[in-house]
Amino acid sequence: MGLALPTDPGLDARLRRRAAIEMRGLRKRYGEQEVLRGVTLTVERGEKIVLCGPSGSGKSTLIRCINGLERHDGGTIAVNGVDLDADGRGVQDVRREVGMVFQHFNLFPHMTILENCTFALRHALGLSVAKAAERAMHHLARVRIADQAGKYPAQLSGGQQQRVAIARALCMDPKIMLFDEPTSALDPEMVAEVLQVMEELAAQGMTMLCVTHEMGFARHVADRCVFLDHGEIVEQADAERFFAAPESERLRAFLNQML
Ligand code: ADP
Ligand code: MG
Repeated sequence: MGLALPTDPGLDARLRRRAAIEMRGLRKRYGEQEVLRGVTLTVERGEKIVLCGPSGSGKSTLIRCINGLERHDGGTIAVNGVDLDADGRGVQDVRREVGMVFQHFNLFPHMTILENCTFALRHALGLSVAKAAERAMHHLARVRIADQAGKYPAQLSGGQQQRVAIARALCMDPKIMLFDEPTSALDPEMVAEVLQVMEELAAQGMTMLCVTHEMGFARHVADRCVFLDHGEIVEQADAERFFAAPESERLRAFLNQML
């Protein structure tokens, strides 16, 4: 006869309910300038969100607050249930769960592609050379660039470098991926190969928050598009409605100017 273990169904439900990212009333200022003015946004596990808005609207700041690259001044953020307090507690826990890809790939120029990918595995996770290389090659293969592992970043095209940056982030087994305009520094002919990799990642179930103005990507991939203007969320909708039938004057103006 089995012993029934005491359970707290309430606790279980609460843990299950915690979203990937829960942001409430987030505020951030640089000196006198209020850059984020009370942003409330929830990203469910497995959800794909596209964030867009004019230059200077606070998109990068928002993304950077999520993995503690910037400290917020007010409101709350929780990532996979870990609270990221304004004083920075929880940052280490959160960074382990969150991968980030920037506009400028930020690869280490003096390291090979493989070394770029193994560096954190060796020095942050303490993996052996062999284990780190094995994991790195797996993710480089995923972004179809394993054959370039021995080269240096400068020997690769921009699109290839950005795919390496994605592989490097994936090496840390993130639960959430943040992208900050990953294709906007690329020559037009290289945009598709990076978006393709991001689409595959989405199809594999990754939780993603992407700052991008790539409408095709948003239509194919995003569960929701969010428009940020002057540090506030002005409108959000599924991609079809977002682009075809924007409700606010500000989003209409932004889309008109984009086309
Ligand atoms: P976006 O990514 O939407 O273009 P950002 O989040 O980069 O916007 O910037 C929002 C505003 O905050 C801009 O006015 C920018 O000049 C300002 N800003 C961003 N980072 C800093 C910083 N480190 N110091 C001072 N001002 C900043
Ligand atoms: Mg930005």
